[in-house]
Amino acid sequence: EQEAWGALRNQETISQDGRHFEVAANVGTLADIQDAQNNGAEGIVLLRTEFLYMNQTKLPGEDQQFSAYKQFVAAMNQHRVVTRTLDVGGDKRLEMVPLPHEANPYLGFRAIRIGLAKPEILRPQLRAMLRASVYGRLAIMFPMVATIEEFRQARQILDEEKASLEKSGVPVADNIEVGMMLEIPSVAMMADLFAQDVDFFSIGSNDLIQYLFAADRGNARVAYLYQELHPAVLRTVKRVIDAAHAEGKWVGMCGEMAGNPLATPLLMGMGLDEFSMNSGQILHIRSLIKQMNTRQLQPLVHRSLNAQTASAVTAMVKKFLKENN
Ligand code: PEP
Ligand code: MG
Repeated sequence: EQEAWGALRNQETISQDGRHFEVAANVGTLADIQDAQNNGAEGIVLLRTEFLYMNQTKLPGEDQQFSAYKQFVAAMNQHRVVTRTLDVGGDKRLEMVPLPHEANPYLGFRAIRIGLAKPEILRPQLRAMLRASVYGRLAIMFPMVATIEEFRQARQILDEEKASLEKSGVPVADNIEVGMMLEIPSVAMMADLFAQDVDFFSIGSNDLIQYLFAADRGNARVAYLYQELHPAVLRTVKRVIDAAHAEGKWVGMCGEMAGNPLATPLLMGMGLDEFSMNSGQILHIRSLIKQMNTRQLQPLVHRSLNAQTASAVTAMVKKFLKENN
């Protein structure tokens, strides 16, 4: 089986009925680039930039960040590389930026909330990304956006930095897509309106599921509540995809769920455009997508959305895969 997957490395991910899906990599260090390439990633749709900040004594400079982002973008040729602005707080601490002790860090000062409060962190990062944009196809995404105002504020800062770079004669690509992680249930409820502002959504299922079920993603005692195939998750994902498509925007997923083979037929059937995952899962998911026909998935999607439990959905998907392979 592994060998058969190898042949898929240089192929596009096209379903039996001719729909193209993009299967891309999540990366978190420069060393991950090789892995993404070896596994035939059709892009990087989550570049976690935290590696530049963790275990450092001072903030990484703009030039240092630029040189790192440039390497990712150049290595992927014309494939999309979605760089995410710093996503710390929650479980991720920074040595050089002491954050206050909080009773509920996952509900506290994290991600874009820190970026907007501390422009001395966000601005140089965005400048570095903008400078790297001319070396390939760079996109920018903001983590943990909760309100439309936050997205607009972040985008405003980005526009200001772009204007300032251009004024000093630094080239910046002019077709940069600007999107956001969709990780908060309130955003899913408002997705139709967010979709007017963003170029794309990337669903962060890891955080989205923890907030949907009010169950800490790292707490083993409540892990039984953390269910990727729960109809509540599927309904939320479907709602987001439909809202984005109504505005002509694309939707990806970059949480662990995107690499879960049991979720693949459901995500495909609901029309998810892009799947981003650890490189080791790419060929498996690509082989699954290539075997399926999105039209034939519709009854399964319909029944799953109307099921009562995750275990009912899991049973339906397993039965479907057994009968259709
Ligand atoms: C997510 O929340 O699904 C996600 C991809 O972001 P992270 O795991 O880095 O929080
Ligand atoms: Mg997240």
